[in-house]
Amino acid sequence: MGLLDGKRAIVMGVGNQRSIAWGIATAFQREGAQLAFNYATERLRDNVEKLVVTLPGHDQMPLLPCDVSKQDEIEAFFAAIGARWGQADILVHSIGYAAVEDLRGRFHEISRDGLKLAIDISAFSLIAVTRAALPLFEKAGGGSVMSLTYNAVDRVVPSYNSMAMAKAVLESGTRYLAADLGPSNVRVNTISAGPLKTLAGSAVKGISSARDLMVEKAPLRRNITQDEVGNVAVFLASEMSRCVTGATIFADNGFNVLGVAD
Ligand code: NAD
Repeated sequence: MGLLDGKRAIVMGVGNQRSIAWGIATAFQREGAQLAFNYATERLRDNVEKLVVTLPGHDQMPLLPCDVSKQDEIEAFFAAIGARWGQADILVHSIGYAAVEDLRGRFHEISRDGLKLAIDISAFSLIAVTRAALPLFEKAGGGSVMSLTYNAVDRVVPSYNSMAMAKAVLESGTRYLAADLGPSNVRVNTISAGPLKTLAGSAVKGISSARDLMVEKAPLRRNITQDEVGNVAVFLASEMSRCVTGATIFADNGFNVLGVAD
């Protein structure tokens, strides 16, 4: 018996094997969920397809385009999944993008357009895809939405500039969505993961030193893995977390509790 037996999960944000979304997808499958995937661009389609075909039952898994900066693609994506499944129980938003120059420079120099872009793709998209998923959740009698954040919101992290602002919007949006959609039995949470060497992670200068710091200073004295984030996602997707909504759940080996580390 899996924790997600009979549940249908839409996983957005697989780009390659290292993607956090891939760790989440494989954990969901282990627990019995049915899966659907998007790919952001035609260029990424091959990558995602090659991964999906490694999963048992892959021929039953919707794999469709969805660039979250395009409203028509969001609508077409959820309409196609609705046509295939009729309903859905789980939505994973594991998506982020910012221009490198708006991450690495001086904070006061981030551009207006760069900030808008980071917030649009990394945070507003959570609202847009959740809204599009609502009819599918309604048919299922409720839903669980989760996204990925990083603790550059309460703490200042070098080279996170515009993405830190986007994550602040994402975390606040999580609480507002949770309050708004709770009466429909839709839960919305976000996982604040420690640093992982993914494509998006590597855009942030200093990811390697952030990982070294985890080993040296995090209460659990080690780095997190993609699989561990997958297991936290299973908890949030399952009935085990039915009383949890609006939360930012730290999957960071306790690093967030430190003030001055000894
Ligand atoms: P990743 O590069 O594997 O995943 C990012 C995904 O976002 C990619 O699949 C990409 O295709 C997708 N994406 C970008 N623009 C898009 C668009 N317009 N439409 C649709 N999809 C789009 O890297 P990741 O580290 O797995 O990132 C996933 C999430 O985890 C992001 O929100 C990231 O900020 C967050 N996160 C990462 C870390 C880390 O250290 N890697 C830590 C905490 C949180």
